[in-house]
Amino acid sequence: MGKKKSSTPSEQHLLLPQHPSRSDAQATPIVDTHTHLISTFSTYRSKYKEGKFATVYDFVREVYKDHGVEAIVDVYCEAPVQKQWRELADSALSEDDRKLKWGGLDYWFVMGVHPHEAKEYNDDVERDILEAMAHPRCVGWGEMGLDYHYDNSPREIQQEVFIRQLQHAVRLGKPLTIHTREAEEDTERILKQYVPKDHRIHIHCYTDSPEWAARMLEHFPNLYIGITGVITYATNLNTSAVIRQMAAAAQTPLRILLETDAPYMTPSNIYNTLKDVKGRLPLSHSAMIPWTAEWVADVANESAGDGARWDTDKVMQEGRENAKKMYGV
Ligand SMILES: [Zn+2]
Repeated sequence: MGKKKSSTPSEQHLLLPQHPSRSDAQATPIVDTHTHLISTFSTYRSKYKEGKFATVYDFVREVYKDHGVEAIVDVYCEAPVQKQWRELADSALSEDDRKLKWGGLDYWFVMGVHPHEAKEYNDDVERDILEAMAHPRCVGWGEMGLDYHYDNSPREIQQEVFIRQLQHAVRLGKPLTIHTREAEEDTERILKQYVPKDHRIHIHCYTDSPEWAARMLEHFPNLYIGITGVITYATNLNTSAVIRQMAAAAQTPLRILLETDAPYMTPSNIYNTLKDVKGRLPLSHSAMIPWTAEWVADVANESAGDGARWDTDKVMQEGRENAKKMYGV
């Protein structure tokens, strides 16, 4: 490896130290309920051209090793569907393969079409998704929804494609992974109209208002709020406000799912631990979940009543239990 100067920290920094709260072997395993593994790996390859991990399996085995990453829910949301899903999903079918290829990690996936790509949705894409839904490692439909921040597809088409996917997912009894941004009113109206109250719903990478979260949690008893590293960003106060609201209402357990949305949303507090790192890591990955959990615990403690002391591990436990309820992972 050359010693050329660059603002990108060397790849060894992706092999994180243990989170300070997780020194003992009893620490709760990590479950990442929303990650984009193929794009995480390709970001890795493009940032580290001479990087030592040649395959996605090498990357997972080495980078997640020793961090107790127990399970991930990988997300496919492109149109047309990325055909590589089958190779990864098939390679997680037997316990022997999971040990050998994945280092013991439980690989699961969801599939749908992202609102950005709604204009590319068609019968062929839908047929491919329906085929994937029958795979034993598939645990949900998504991410799908509405994104009025970027408006990469026309809003009428976003809504039409969202509704069409919801109808299939509900008919199949598949849990829903929802992406919504600056589209509260329409997302709420559509979900309430097309999805039964007791259906399992994950509002992923939550950044919308605390009021909206409260209404949705109230209406849908099996709805969970997805928390990524975005909760640590100064530009986003909503997500912390949602946690404070839940903790103050003594809603124990917190109805949250922990996720990375990797390769995006590296938790900013990770640099408290990585003091020697100059610059910023170019990608996030599943072993970063404890830093997000630490932030959640601190925020929850600001408003929790007496006797409800949160810490990183307790948040990780809640996240893990909720992941089981939501996706069965
Ligand atoms: Zn995502």
